[in-house]
Amino acid sequence: MALPPGLPAILAQARSQAQAPDELEDLPLEEDPDGDEPTGDGLYPRGSVATAMLPALSAEQKSFWKELGRTFKGLVVRKKDSKPASIPEAELAALFATGFPLPIEDFPKAKLRDTFEASRGRHRNHHAIDLGAPKGTPILAVSDGTIERLGRDRRGGITIYHRDATGRFVYFYAHLKRYAPGLKVGDRVKRGQQIGEVGTTGRTFGAHLHFAIFRDADSPNPWKGLVVNPYLVFSALIGPK
Ligand SMILES: [Zn+2]
Repeated sequence: MALPPGLPAILAQARSQAQAPDELEDLPLEEDPDGDEPTGDGLYPRGSVATAMLPALSAEQKSFWKELGRTFKGLVVRKKDSKPASIPEAELAALFATGFPLPIEDFPKAKLRDTFEASRGRHRNHHAIDLGAPKGTPILAVSDGTIERLGRDRRGGITIYHRDATGRFVYFYAHLKRYAPGLKVGDRVKRGQQIGEVGTTGRTFGAHLHFAIFRDADSPNPWKGLVVNPYLVFSALIGPK
């Protein structure tokens, strides 16, 4: 997969333009029912999510991110049917500008696999990547943001939903052994901060981190909207194997 030329420069530019929100409100805790996926009415009334300003893009940057969206086929898809979707260029810029690390430190690049579109049952796709690591391996927050929800799902086991600083993306970490001590909903976390440990809770084939990126700040249920392929994001950010 060839990256559009000039990615590093554009990333640096977008990074310097991205702004952190002044204040993120404290978020209510919602217990997750014993479902396959989070259900219910969601955490927020529509439009209440605090969002940072997205970077203002020049025409040249806009066309760069548009091109990147085209180059990375399937970078963003609809969760319900895996149909390709597009999001505003400024959001792509903000997502990549975080330059986020793999959620497991020193994870060998050669072991990264693109299982985003892998089938998980009749009507389901994986829409995530799995990082195999020994139980107890630290899990790191991939960007600055807020802990939005701590869940216990039948499939996902012990989970974390972490909203990024722009308010547009939610990072999902599943099958944890445990949370970092004291972690609670509403906590602000920093990129690289330990938020949990790799485990085998929920339905797993062995100790690993299931990591997904949801995008939909407008929906009261962020996990019902669009999903971003983390493998493609990581590939772009950490370079070829
Ligand atoms: Zn998985």
